[in-house]
Amino acid sequence: MGEDNAVLAVDTERQEENFYPVEVTQLKEFEFLRIVWDDGHLGDYPLAHLRSYCTCSTCGGRGDYSRFERKDSYVQNIYDTGNGALRVDWDNGNHTSIYSFTFLRSLCRCWMCEAERMLADSIERVEVSNQKFAGR
Ligand SMILES: [Zn+2]
Ligand SMILES: [Zn+2]
Repeated sequence: MGEDNAVLAVDTERQEENFYPVEVTQLKEFEFLRIVWDDGHLGDYPLAHLRSYCTCSTCGGRGDYSRFERKDSYVQNIYDTGNGALRVDWDNGNHTSIYSFTFLRSLCRCWMCEAERMLADSIERVEVSNQKFAGR
C-alpha cells in the first residue's frame, strides 16, 4: 500500500494559522474538492492539482502535473485522519495521499488566496524599494 510511505508536509510559513476543514465535498462533475474551513473560507481544489501535490516520497509534493494522467486524479475515498490531516485514496493504482490541513490550506486556488499571494509578493517588492530610498 502507498499508505506506508505517505508523509505529512510541513509548511512552516503557515504553521501559526491552524485552520480546520468543517466540510469537504467532492464535486464530481467538475473534478474538484470544495472545502469549507472553520474561518468560513471556501476553497476550491481541482483534483488534478491535489494529486500533483501528493507529498509521499514517491510523488514528492511538487505540483508536477506532467507526471500524471487524468485518471490518476479520480478519487475513491476521502477521510479525516483524525490527526490534523486529510487522507485521499486515489482510484488509480491504490495510491494514498495525506495532506496536513495547513498544507492543504496553502494549496487553495480560489481567487482570494491567489490575490493574497500576489499582494504578499508586491509587499515584498515595496520593502525592497524602501530600503533603496532609506539612504537619501
Ligand atoms: Zn504520492
Ligand atoms: Zn482560498
